[in-house]
Amino acid sequence: MTMPMDQNHQHQEKWSNGTQVVANYNFEGSNPDDLPFKKGDVITIVQSTRDPNWYKGQNEHGQEGMFPATYVQKRREVHLQAMPWYHGKIERKTAEELLNPREDGLFLIRESVNYPGDYTLSVCHQRKVEHYRIIYHKNQMTIDEETYFDNLSQLVEHYQNDADGLCTKLIRALPKKGDSFGAVRIQDFEAGGWVIQKKDLQEIELIGRGEFGDVYKGLYKNQFVAVKQLKDQDRAAQAFLKEASVMTSLRHPNLVQLIGVVLGDTIRLVTEFMGKGNLVEYLRSRGRSVIQKKDQIDFATDTCAAMEYLESKKLVHRDLAARNILINENNTAKVSDFGLAKYGDYSTEGGKFPIKWTAPEALKNNKFSNKSDMWSYGILLWELYSFGRVPYPRIPLADVVMHVEKGYRMEAPEGCPKQIYNLMLKAWNLNPADRPTFKEALAELQNLRSTTV
Ligand code: ADP
Ligand code: MG
Repeated sequence: MTMPMDQNHQHQEKWSNGTQVVANYNFEGSNPDDLPFKKGDVITIVQSTRDPNWYKGQNEHGQEGMFPATYVQKRREVHLQAMPWYHGKIERKTAEELLNPREDGLFLIRESVNYPGDYTLSVCHQRKVEHYRIIYHKNQMTIDEETYFDNLSQLVEHYQNDADGLCTKLIRALPKKGDSFGAVRIQDFEAGGWVIQKKDLQEIELIGRGEFGDVYKGLYKNQFVAVKQLKDQDRAAQAFLKEASVMTSLRHPNLVQLIGVVLGDTIRLVTEFMGKGNLVEYLRSRGRSVIQKKDQIDFATDTCAAMEYLESKKLVHRDLAARNILINENNTAKVSDFGLAKYGDYSTEGGKFPIKWTAPEALKNNKFSNKSDMWSYGILLWELYSFGRVPYPRIPLADVVMHVEKGYRMEAPEGCPKQIYNLMLKAWNLNPADRPTFKEALAELQNLRSTTV
């Protein structure tokens, strides 16, 4: 292990208080004022000093002390790389219509129709469109089976610099209209200080099954964690890493915190451990005899606080439901599951959505926003006060939207406070603009919480 104290490693950037850094080396400290740490530990900056190479920091156990800046790196958010040239699943004929006028080197990439799982590069050359199959195999892509790339962005970059066997180099991307796709680069997790070594992680037991794979209880640095394991490496990896990338930019006491990702053959997402599991199962298994009014208003407020934070960041969750709220040993509720989350107020191409939780404008026109999250929050409140019942009991799934549009609304659950039911009804306004913001809802809930015993 090389020590980073030579002159070439002068620390340049100044870190403000609250900045999180990750240790790249073990630091033993030589003085009682020092804060010893191990590689991978996360330290929060408490104070800078006159010496730009020394900071005062706090570790995860609340201990404070001095440490050299050259032993750590700043934790960085991982962002999606824009892929404006990626048009998703469109047919060859559509691609040829889109690529007009046919200037040499105008290109787009689409999902292959003939070879599911592969992609196609469509590029203009001498007024014609040439289509190249991009073979996707084991997280690698190639056109000529000689040069391989980790992702489409790298492939595009390569052929922008050099035709390398194609009819022309790629000159101009035809941008996709509307919501375009983004991709995650694995290296960015490394550069951002989010990578956990598999040997530092101990898996204890299976605790749940998710869409992408199994969830385990684990031990990392003497702390219980949840480990979400990606089962089918190939196509799901991007979606899985997108969830992780969204989480790198979020920090709030009511959001399930990302601790890191394990890369390699099996990608794993490591988050804080929430010992009491998800809210629906918690409500169903404890019921009215255990769960008090106070617990319900606490869960409602916790969830709303997290949603207000997302709203302030213009992040839309899109899958808010009691099954995606987790409870820890201290009975704090936290929002999880950012698998569908996206930035901005946008529309997007169709997908599978949880019909009973999704706002009508989102289901019909794919208009997702913080206001459609508010609709879902109303459903979540109903779940919470009905102790985990499935919403719209007795209405077949296919008929829900029709009933709702005609004005049908669920009744208040038995014993539900009037203010809470009023909030549900406001959240279920057909006009998104007439629904409250999470900020407004939070103020109401805090008020109600202060008078609930
Ligand atoms: P997916 O959204 O892919 O279906 P989830 O993230 O909802 O997967 O995880 C599935 C289940 O695993 C949850 O319902 C919960 O019971 C359990 N689980 C997930 N994350 C945690 C965690 N951080 N702590 C404790 N249990 C968890
Ligand atoms: Mg889930």
